[in-house]
Amino acid sequence: MKEKNNSERIVKNFFEKKEAFEIIFDNIDIGLFIINVVNNEFYVDSINKAYEKATGFKKDDVKNKNIKEIVDTKLYHAFTSNYQECITKKEILEYEEILFINSKRTYWFTRLIPLIENEKVVKIIGTSVPVTEYKNSEKEARKRESFLKTLLDTIPNPIFYKDENLRYLGCNKAFEEVLGVKSQDIVGKNVFELSPKELAEKYYEKDIELLKNPYTQQYEAQVKDANGQYRDILFNKAVYEIDGEIAGIIGIMLDITELKSYQRILKELSLHDELTQIYNKRGINELSHSMYKELIRNKGILGILMIDIDNFKKYNDTYGHQEGDVCLRKIAQAIKKSCNRPRDLVGRYGGEEFIVFLPNTDIKGVIVVANRILKNIRNLKIPHESSPTADVVTVSIGALSIPCDKNTELDMHVFMADNLLYKAKKNGRNRYEV
Ligand code: GH3
Ligand code: MG
Ligand code: MG
Repeated sequence: MKEKNNSERIVKNFFEKKEAFEIIFDNIDIGLFIINVVNNEFYVDSINKAYEKATGFKKDDVKNKNIKEIVDTKLYHAFTSNYQECITKKEILEYEEILFINSKRTYWFTRLIPLIENEKVVKIIGTSVPVTEYKNSEKEARKRESFLKTLLDTIPNPIFYKDENLRYLGCNKAFEEVLGVKSQDIVGKNVFELSPKELAEKYYEKDIELLKNPYTQQYEAQVKDANGQYRDILFNKAVYEIDGEIAGIIGIMLDITELKSYQRILKELSLHDELTQIYNKRGINELSHSMYKELIRNKGILGILMIDIDNFKKYNDTYGHQEGDVCLRKIAQAIKKSCNRPRDLVGRYGGEEFIVFLPNTDIKGVIVVANRILKNIRNLKIPHESSPTADVVTVSIGALSIPCDKNTELDMHVFMADNLLYKAKKNGRNRYEV
């Protein structure tokens, strides 16, 4: 009640006291102007301080002047066409206008209120709010957005961004192309709606981990591309913040499928001997030790054969080094051919020395393989005229089969096989010793 009485009093005073109106008129932040309409001509009645400040017009300069005298023709037409419309319609008119003031482009939101006496508009009260700053910042924002979109679309790596609830906000062109989706179709979706369950679970787990530990994140995962092929992807992800709070996640995808396959090829190459194409000492070391560990777990046994070509120095001396290499290749293949089981491991251990690992093979089996190697090499019938052992190239073998036990080292068994090989050499070559 008290409130109402109070406001009624203010309104009453307002109309009663001209000074009160003038105080408000000059102190309000909104630009105000009053136009007198006389015979379809427009004269300035008054403008307030805010309007003076915004436009640069001075109240005393424009008072009672025809608009014509104050502004150029272009501005005159801009102003009066709106006044004319207000008069004709006898309604409040609202519009946005662009005015060049002091040769600067300015934006305004203007409202014209007609004052009607005897069905004629006699005055127009106008309010004008400058919106240039708002317009410019809106334009700036659009400019930044366009720049960012072009930048993202120019980057050849797929990029995606999500909000803090892990729902996609969008992606760049590369993401659309590689994954065969449209940006507008992923907006608002989560990983479970877009990726196969198993992959989605991994992505989700990683996203949660990143939100809890909001730095940058890097990991590899496979992704199904637009052609249904799985690609190896290196993900680089980071959270982004707005006003100090996590607002979402940005991710960049690097396709490392080719790199990975080169890595595999390189690894294979580094484990193989160039001359004979079987495993080299490094390959043998890596694979035999993991084989031995597995056999320990399964309480298995392991057959080992150490093989050395007989009188090979003499072979080189007689036929030359190049022929020696050809011979080494043939011997390697003959040894490999003598080992039938897929898990048997054959390698070149040194110059003209080879080693064979036969998992789960007892001494009887080892002897079968040793005899087969001796026979297959003799059957190559590689002439060796300077050999005191035979007229063809032969080998000697030291062989054993051992139970695999965590208390003994594989290297010790290899050393024992080497001793047996020495014994075979001493006992006349072209034979095995167990
Ligand atoms: P033994 O019957 O006692 O084994 O006599 P050997 O002559 O075979 O043994 P020794 O260790 O005296 O000589 C090994 C020779 O193997 C020395 C070298 O000329 C030859 N050799 C080692 N690596 C290569 C290779 O990569 N290519 C060729 N052509 N020969 C090699
Ligand atoms: Mg040797
Ligand atoms: Mg030899």
